[in-house]
Amino acid sequence: MRIILLGAPGSGKSTQGDLITGKFGFPKISSGDLLRRAVKDNTPLGKDVEAVMKRGDLVSDHVVIEMIKERIEKDDCQQGYILDGFPRTLSQALVLEKMSPEKAEIVIGIHLDDSVVIDRISARRICSGCNHIFNLLSKSPEHRQICEDCGGTLIQRPDDKPEVIKDRLKVYHEQQDALVEFYKEKNVYTCVEGDADRDDIFVNICSLLDRIIENAMGADGVL
Ligand code: AMP
Repeated sequence: MRIILLGAPGSGKSTQGDLITGKFGFPKISSGDLLRRAVKDNTPLGKDVEAVMKRGDLVSDHVVIEMIKERIEKDDCQQGYILDGFPRTLSQALVLEKMSPEKAEIVIGIHLDDSVVIDRISARRICSGCNHIFNLLSKSPEHRQICEDCGGTLIQRPDDKPEVIKDRLKVYHEQQDALVEFYKEKNVYTCVEGDADRDDIFVNICSLLDRIIENAMGADGVL
């Protein structure tokens, strides 16, 4: 079972991915998180991609594809996995098909207008300790610098700064139509409205997933 979450930066893919993991158990694989980890750890990969990410551009296909391939081959992905931020280009989607042709697949697009994306991302902060994501608008002033979960410092991602957000959205729109078309043709694409309460969005996603999992499950109860 492969669940692919598509949507603009800040549309809530990561949050919904975590909720899906919590309920269905499939691990969430975020290409952005894996790349940020490499940058933080100062690995050769991290050094290669840091400047590109800071600008809001896409890291080259072959680098991301190798990284994802290695991750989905791990044992915990054998029953299924959730992809957040990958594929981002049609070439990535085509390679994904070849390297892992899943029996059941659903692609969920989370729709959000650009103006809402810009407001949301400007207020987004990430914990430097546990990577938990917060929105300043929903936090009281005294909790705007410290993570409530681990006490880590909240920081703004360099690519969440206002001057970079517009470039990231441009990159997103350049790639997105072809990707959505591809999955529509495969008959696996569905879209949910992202400008809603996160729990309401999750209810919509769950009903989609319940249906798909039921259809994909063999008589032996195995996906
Ligand atoms: P995200 O956290 O998904 O917004 O990703 C942050 C940044 O990581 C992006 O702006 C890109 O620079 C890079 N990135 C993440 N996923 C991909 C991908 N699938 N292809 C190319 N670059 C990516």
